[in-house]
Amino acid sequence: MSTRCIDCHTLLTSGSRCYACTLTHRAKREANGWERQQQTDRILDRDGHQCVLKGPHNGRLEVDHIVPLHRGGSNDDDNLRTLCAFHHRLVTGEARRSRPGYPR
Ligand SMILES: [Zn+2]
Ligand SMILES: [Zn+2]
Repeated sequence: MSTRCIDCHTLLTSGSRCYACTLTHRAKREANGWERQQQTDRILDRDGHQCVLKGPHNGRLEVDHIVPLHRGGSNDDDNLRTLCAFHHRLVTGEARRSRPGYPR
């Protein structure tokens, strides 16, 4: 039985990716993770390492999507803000409750 590399379609004896594509894939994934971490640091710095909402804060700081990705929000810095875990849960919970069951 033979398979093909899912990236370059070279015939393989086993696995789903050839060695070269495995390396490329891994490097890409690590680069993405690094990029995300950089962005997280950037958002936290921009917001002064504080939750941007008013009120009592609780929990560690997290980066929130102002417009959720499933509503067409982007991963751009201006769609991201720093929230404490408490407020993050609060706003994502509210977003879920106010989410219409039908398209508007
Ligand atoms: Zn390959
Ligand atoms: Zn907060």
